[in-house]
Amino acid sequence: MEEKICLACLATDKKLKNNYCTKCIRELFNGITPNPLNFDKVEFTKKRAELSPRMSISGVQDKISLAFEKKDLTPTAINGKYILKPITKGVGQIENEKDIVANEHLSMLISKNIFKIPTASCALIKFSDGELAYLTKRFDYDDEKLKYDQEDFAGILEVSPSTHGENYKYDACNYLDCAKMIKKHVSSNIVAIEDFFKRIILNYLICNSDAHLKNFSLYSKANSNEYFLTPNYDLLNTRFHINEKYGDMALELLEDYTSTYKAYGYYTYDDFETFAKYIDLPKIRFDKIIQLIKDSYPQVEELINKSFLSSKAKEFYKNSYKERMERLKI
Ligand SMILES: [Zn+2]
Repeated sequence: MEEKICLACLATDKKLKNNYCTKCIRELFNGITPNPLNFDKVEFTKKRAELSPRMSISGVQDKISLAFEKKDLTPTAINGKYILKPITKGVGQIENEKDIVANEHLSMLISKNIFKIPTASCALIKFSDGELAYLTKRFDYDDEKLKYDQEDFAGILEVSPSTHGENYKYDACNYLDCAKMIKKHVSSNIVAIEDFFKRIILNYLICNSDAHLKNFSLYSKANSNEYFLTPNYDLLNTRFHINEKYGDMALELLEDYTSTYKAYGYYTYDDFETFAKYIDLPKIRFDKIIQLIKDSYPQVEELINKSFLSSKAKEFYKNSYKERMERLKI
């Protein structure tokens, strides 16, 4: 059966070439239509094992670097400009793992299309046996293949297992600490602070409780000292896959809990309003973001419906998003 939906933007009204629309082929593959993947997940796993000692991408999820040459995306140990993440099986206490790939893709599209946050380019892609995987284009190279100078917030805030123990990515700092670093290092920090605030409230709405210090980074282009927030990456409704034992978010918003937090036991509108004040996000901008969340829910729901999530996952995503909106009094 021929697919009628673009596996990158989920548009249903476009002409497709190998599952992608022209706009997405331009954005993801510089205008060159990729051939379908010529390997399946079994071969992926084999390649992954072969290449892993030389892989430079960190993280626990199974992933592989891909090069794009002569219309083919092929596993590589060096200079891969794409990352391929398949459905991960049997890792820890992960539930509903079949939905992980579609969950990440949907969460990234909400960031990009609804919240208008600079977001890493990504798509779904089929293995040769038809199983879907998540594909993302690396953003730390420019068109001339010069690598950007990138540092995550664990590095920027100088925290590590030796300073704060194994859980340092979660325990060492809060989002206010990160915002202070943005003000210090990013020259266009008025824009960056608003962007950062949107990322934090988005993570709250989509129930991503894994937005830890290493999932935010600053980078500068080659031969430049000017730092920017990198595009948004690694977004997922984690609640659907992990039985959460900890807080609602990976990091706390502030040094201390507000009185409303103490009363409710979770973050509400007041916490985000206080957070906005502390990071110097003007009230008018804060109000605009709250209005955007309110106005855009039908589009969020439309994207969820179009996504490749199972119907159980779609229901969960919608309900958890609406629950968070209620907490924010939206
Ligand atoms: Zn598209």
